Amino acid sequence: MSKRLELEIWSQDNCAGCGLCVAACSKQVLYWNGGNHPVLEKRSKTVGYTQGTLDSCSFCQVFCEDVCPRLERWTPFEPLKILAAQAHGPVKSGAPNDVIRSILAAGRSAGLLDGVVMLDLDPWDLKPVARVVSTVEEIVDSVGPQYLWAPIFDVLNAAVYDRAMENIAVVGTPCAAQAVRRIKASPKTHLKKYQEAIRLSIAVFCTGAYRPELIDEILVKRMGISRDQVKRLEVSADHEQMRALLWDGEEHTLPRQLAESYTLTGCGSCNDYLGESADLAVGTLGAPEGSSTVIIRTHVGEVFARNAVQMNLLATSLDVDTAILETAAGEKDRRQRAQAFKDLQILMLDALADPVQRGEAIKQFTRLYRTPTRSTAPERSRNSCTGC
Ligand code: SF4
Ligand code: SF4
Ligand code: SF4
Repeated sequence: MSKRLELEIWSQDNCAGCGLCVAACSKQVLYWNGGNHPVLEKRSKTVGYTQGTLDSCSFCQVFCEDVCPRLERWTPFEPLKILAAQAHGPVKSGAPNDVIRSILAAGRSAGLLDGVVMLDLDPWDLKPVARVVSTVEEIVDSVGPQYLWAPIFDVLNAAVYDRAMENIAVVGTPCAAQAVRRIKASPKTHLKKYQEAIRLSIAVFCTGAYRPELIDEILVKRMGISRDQVKRLEVSADHEQMRALLWDGEEHTLPRQLAESYTLTGCGSCNDYLGESADLAVGTLGAPEGSSTVIIRTHVGEVFARNAVQMNLLATSLDVDTAILETAAGEKDRRQRAQAFKDLQILMLDALADPVQRGEAIKQFTRLYRTPTRSTAPERSRNSCTGC
């Protein structure tokens, strides 16, 4: 088993819950048991009257470590273009998920894609699900990411191996895009099939994902709304409220603070609001009313956006408040510092057992405490809007 995953991610409550380690594990010995991170299956063997524990990971090249987005610090892909966009065609709106569906539908129609791995919402029980869709109709019928957590890469093997898809888009949170970037950068040949199959990653701006229990505890029990009444969930543009849109046209709002305790623990140390590793990042921040901001970060992202415009499925303009995006990105300074303190914590734990590490721990401790924080981004309280 990768000691780094255990020590640096799981025991530090730092897992983003993407599920890529589970998908990439060559022996399928990682699984979810309802906790905040995957767990390793314990295997044992009985010989005579004795039972011994087996190493579930013997002779493995530790693929789980190679794909985990939390074990790498990324320099952001700098934006090539920042546009305001509205979806045209079958889904006509400026909501982020609709803009994403338009880009995907255009990509599928043009043969740029043969499948999409995405976070979605089961319309019957409102459970977040990871799904593989392959037709334009399926793309249009999907709801898209709803800020409810599900391990998106749980269906990656179904897309790559069972359905033999060769041109896949992954649509999820920024950490999912980081995981895609990680797997693409790996030199391990076992991961080549994934590297070749994933063509595009799209991230929605994200300040945190909520555990699905939120639906029962808040929507059903507190607000008295039954699951079958709800058409979709939305987070307001200022991220201060969650909205439940009902099939009869009614709209119910709940303050985001109420939902805060359901946030995935790993989101607390996340340093990426704006999908900085994705080909395309989409959200409402910075866009005029009725549009979404689309940050094009790579040439692949540019091809998909341009294709959607050429097929008249997307209308774009330059009307984006980029200063507000910069402020949100500036938050990263503070979050990176928080991460540096977390790394120091790990180093100090190591130093307890290893005297060689003590000098390094003291050096880092001094450096961190003496480095002044930059005050470019306005300080926000933990529970307030992060601007995404
Ligand atoms: S070390 Fe290998 S077998 Fe063990 S969990 Fe990681 S990928 Fe799976
Ligand atoms: S962040 Fe993703 S890859 Fe890393 S441990 Fe968590 S589920 Fe696995
Ligand atoms: S805040 Fe969003 S991007 Fe960050 S770990 Fe949580 S779900 Fe992933």
